[in-house]
Amino acid sequence: MVLQTVEILRSEIPFDEESVFISDDVKAGLVLVDIINGFCTVGSGNLAPREPNRQISQMIEESQKLAKVLCDKKLPVLAFLDSHPPGKLEHPYPTHCVAGSDESKLVPALSWIEEEPNVTIRRKDCYDGYLGSIQEDGSNVFVDWVKSNKIQTLLVVGICTDICVLDFVCSTISAKNRGFLEPLEDVVVYSKGCATFDIPASLARNNKDLLAHPQEMMHHVGLYMAKGRGAKIASEVSFHGLKNL
Ligand SMILES: [Zn+2]
Repeated sequence: MVLQTVEILRSEIPFDEESVFISDDVKAGLVLVDIINGFCTVGSGNLAPREPNRQISQMIEESQKLAKVLCDKKLPVLAFLDSHPPGKLEHPYPTHCVAGSDESKLVPALSWIEEEPNVTIRRKDCYDGYLGSIQEDGSNVFVDWVKSNKIQTLLVVGICTDICVLDFVCSTISAKNRGFLEPLEDVVVYSKGCATFDIPASLARNNKDLLAHPQEMMHHVGLYMAKGRGAKIASEVSFHGLKNL
């Protein structure tokens, strides 16, 4: 039944994915959205998966590979970490990813990036990493990162495809269209490097506090919406001198 619905969605709102090749004369940067325990590690809090999840495992593996390539090439990487002050709720979600807790730390497979000189870590207390990058003096950590590194192609991976990844991509493309992000040209969402969570309709039906969120469907919708705003959706990303991911 669920599979049939996904197939209908794929035929009614289809989108093309592409092979994205990054040549050596294009400056690329990578944004990792919320690949932290509180959203990815089984049992790690209110919004963590309850059991191992194939889409989330693949997202971590692919993001890790991409981060490794960027670090080997000394290209800039920016990691957003969802991180909320204790006692401050983020509507409509239950308490999650409290600042300083294990939930708001990078997953073990990515913790090594914190030692890398080309990596910037930005803790944010809202879904949208663009808004979450605004500092008290009005400057924006993400905008400054794009400009100072002269990023032309921005690769985006993380969780959730249809929430924090999508919101960030939409804000970034709007800002780019307004001329805030020169020299940025392309925003590329790597589909296998993204994942979302799973609340089947059958579960939501019996709990008035739950909004249904079927994983494969919402992942597809998130990518579709990003593409509609002008992002490229990549089925694979390859770099000059390296085989495809
Ligand atoms: Zn949050």
